[in-house]
Amino acid sequence: MLIKRREEIKDKYDVIVIGGGIGGLAAANILGRNGQKVLLVEAHRKLGGLASWFKRQGDHIFDISLHGFPQGMVKSCRKYFGKEIADNIVQLQKLRFKNPVYDIETDFTREDFSRILVEKFEIAPKTVQEFFDFVFHSNFYDNLTMTNRELFEKFFPGRNDVMRFLLEPIVYANGSNLDDEAITYAIVFGNFMKKGVYTYRGGTDHFIKTIQKLLIQNGVDILLGEKVENINIENEQVKSVSIKGNDVKAKAVLSNGNLLSTIFNMVGTNHFSSDFIDRAKRVRLNTSSTQVYLGLKKGESIPFVGDLIFTSQDSHFATDLLLKPNTTYRTFSFYYPELRPERKDAPYEIVASMNARYDDWANLSPEEMQSAKEQMIEDSLNTLEQFLPGIRTQIDYIEAATPLTIERYTHHQKGASFGTKFEGLDVSQKISEEIKGLFHAGSVGIIMSGWLGALNYGAIKTNDIESYLNTFKD
Ligand SMILES: Cc1cc2nc3c(=O)[nH]c(=O)nc-3n(C[C@H](O)[C@H](O)[C@H](O)COP(=O)(O)OP(=O)(O)OC[C@H]3O[C@@H](n4cnc5c(N)ncnc54)[C@H](O)[C@@H]3O)c2cc1C
Repeated sequence: MLIKRREEIKDKYDVIVIGGGIGGLAAANILGRNGQKVLLVEAHRKLGGLASWFKRQGDHIFDISLHGFPQGMVKSCRKYFGKEIADNIVQLQKLRFKNPVYDIETDFTREDFSRILVEKFEIAPKTVQEFFDFVFHSNFYDNLTMTNRELFEKFFPGRNDVMRFLLEPIVYANGSNLDDEAITYAIVFGNFMKKGVYTYRGGTDHFIKTIQKLLIQNGVDILLGEKVENINIENEQVKSVSIKGNDVKAKAVLSNGNLLSTIFNMVGTNHFSSDFIDRAKRVRLNTSSTQVYLGLKKGESIPFVGDLIFTSQDSHFATDLLLKPNTTYRTFSFYYPELRPERKDAPYEIVASMNARYDDWANLSPEEMQSAKEQMIEDSLNTLEQFLPGIRTQIDYIEAATPLTIERYTHHQKGASFGTKFEGLDVSQKISEEIKGLFHAGSVGIIMSGWLGALNYGAIKTNDIESYLNTFKD
C-alpha cells in the first residue's frame, strides 16, 4: 500500500528509510521537514514497528510497548514531531512492586527512591547519594567496563533485595542482565529517575497515526506492506534498494531494521571489511518478550490499582529468572479508559509482560506452543487475582504473544525486543565508515532502545545523513 502525495513512487530519492519503527519515523520526518526527498518503506501493513497496537472484537485496543518511558520523551517529541505529540505525554501516577521481599509504591523518582532506600532498606543516606551521583554522572562516552553485578556489589554489597528494587524494572525496560555493562543501566535508570515514568495519552494508535500525518505533510512517501530485499552497493557506495525485484535509487539509505539483518541479509558480507564482519558476528542480540493481553467486558470496571505493577513470587532475585518460560516475574500494565479520552465507554485493558528467550519458544510443536500459551495465561490470571479478586469473570478477551510473534511482525532476529547488547552500538555507528551512504538507526547497544532511545538515535543519524548528502552538492 502506498500512502503518498505523489502519484507513484519515484525511481530516485535522496534518502530511503527502511523500517517505520520509532527511529525510522523520527529520521524520515526530520529529513522530509528539511526538504530531502524521502521514501519510507515498511514491511508491515502499518507504521510503528514494536511501538504497535492491535484491535480485537471491535472495542479492545491493546498496546504492545506503551508501558512507560522517561520524561525526556517530551523534549524529543516536541523537537522532532511537534507540539501535539509532546502535549499528550503524561506522567504515570503509581508504580507498585510486590514480591515476597517487599511491597512498595512509588512515583519512580530519585527523591522517592532515595527515601525508600533509606527508610525501608536502611541504607546510609551517604551511600544513596553516592550511588545516584554515579548514576547521574555516567555517560556513554565513558568507557566503563564495570558490570551491573559489580555496580551493585560496590554500593550495596550482599543486598539482593536492594539490587532487585533498583534493577528489576530496568531489566523489563531494556533486557539488561547482571553481566551487562553498568553504564547502560546507569543511563537508562538515570533517565527514568530524573522525573519519573511517562506514557502517551491517546494510545500508541494515536501516536503513530499523528506521526504518519506529519510525514505526509512533510512530503515523505510511505510504502507499507513491502519488504526491502536488498541494499545494493556499487564501488563501496549505496546505489539503490530492491523491493519486489525493482530497484529504487537513493543517495543514502538508513536502515531501521535489525542491525544484523541489515548487515548479513540486506547488504551481504562481501561489501564489508573482514574486521567489521568479525565485530558484527560478535554482536549479541538482546532478549525477547512474551505478553498476555486481557480485555475487560464493556461496562466492567476496576479500581485504580496503579499504572504498573512489577510482581514475582520468588524470594531471590537474579536476572536469569525473568527469562524462564514459567517465570513468576511479570509486569502488569493497566490501561484505564482515560488513556484514550476520545473513546466513549472504552473498555479497560490489562497487559502482562514477561521477558523471554527466543530459543525456549522456537522449537515447540503446535500442541506444545498451545499448552505453553495456556499456562502463561493461567499464571498471569492467577497472579492478577491477588490484586483484583474476581477479575476472571470481568474479562471477555484473552490472547498471548511469544518471541515468535515479535519476530514475525518486526523481522527482528530471534524476536529481540530491545535490539542488541552494548557492542551493537559501535557496529551500528561504524556502518557508514564501511559503505558510503549507508546508515543504521534502531534499537542497539541497550542505550539506544526503548521509545526514547530509538527516537533520539534516529534523530541523531539525520545529521550524519545530511552531511553526507551535502557532499553531492560540491
Ligand atoms: C513487549 C515489549 C514491551 C516494550 N515496552 C517498552 C516500554 O514500555 N517503553 C519503551 O520505551 N520501550 C519499550 N519497548 C521497546 C520499544 O518498543 C522499542 O525499543 C522501540 O519501539 C524500537 O524502535 P526501533 O526504531 O528500533 O524500530 P522497531 O520497532 O524495531 O521497528 C523496525 C521496523 O523495521 C521494519 N523492517 C525491518 N526490516 C525491514 C525490511 N527489510 N523492509 C522493510 N521494513 C523492515 C520492521 O517491520 C519494523 O516495523 C518494548 C518492546 C517490547 C517488544
